[in-house]
Amino acid sequence: MSRLSETFTLGALTVSALSDGAPDRALGGFFHGIEPAEWTRALGITNPETPVPFNFGTFLVRGDGHTTLVDSGNGARGKTMGVPGGGELLERLAEVGVRREDVDRVLHTHLHGDHCGWDVDDEAGGAVTFPNAEVFVHAKELEYWTGAASDGNQQASYTRTRVAPLLTASRIRTFDGEFAVSDVVTMIPTPGHTPGHCSVMLASAGQRLLLVGDAAHHPVHLEHHDWIPGVDLDPAESRRSRAKLAALAAETGALVTGGHFPILTLGRVRRVETGYRFEGV
Ligand SMILES: [Zn+2]
Repeated sequence: MSRLSETFTLGALTVSALSDGAPDRALGGFFHGIEPAEWTRALGITNPETPVPFNFGTFLVRGDGHTTLVDSGNGARGKTMGVPGGGELLERLAEVGVRREDVDRVLHTHLHGDHCGWDVDDEAGGAVTFPNAEVFVHAKELEYWTGAASDGNQQASYTRTRVAPLLTASRIRTFDGEFAVSDVVTMIPTPGHTPGHCSVMLASAGQRLLLVGDAAHHPVHLEHHDWIPGVDLDPAESRRSRAKLAALAAETGALVTGGHFPILTLGRVRRVETGYRFEGV
């Protein structure tokens, strides 16, 4: 079982990986059409049904005059999922001394329900959870989930219950293309999993951290760009995004992690003869 919380420094920043649920899971669904023997070897298991540590993760960034949350987990519904730490994001925040009023920015990699759940507090009558936060999301992502294009998407109804109160309260700020939220935080479009999916690059005092969102559900996705999660809406585009991320990570020497990686997974991507290798640090 993975941990629920871990804090580390990146230059002048303090970054906390905070879980909103950390189950062990069989991950076959994230390697669509790939021979089980192939991906299980990469994960160091032999049986594709073997549960491995998984996470519904968020990241809290402090030290730049802001309190920034990257994604917001499953929300209160996570408490009924029967997984360790499920729906406990507000408790994890309290443990590192952060109240909901303190969060002044929420950045979304995308708007699947396991990434925007706590934008709204179902235990507080559906009110906006972080009353002082500006919520950043790619324009295409917002357009997709609020428009007819997602009418047939099973996840749309829950996502729309998150987005509507934010729109009413005028909390959402959209952007197009690569977008510098500040000199510390940059949103990098990596579409495919969803139409406006973004990764997040943090930079401070010469150090970088790349949060890959759901462009990679497991570090092996950074090595095998054609191992496609069944949930990706545009597989060809998501493959291109994984290749772009691996190249960016290798080129910048950034530390890399992702919200679905067990806490705490930190690694670097290195160019090798056959492609790319993820090396834990
Ligand atoms: Zn996800």
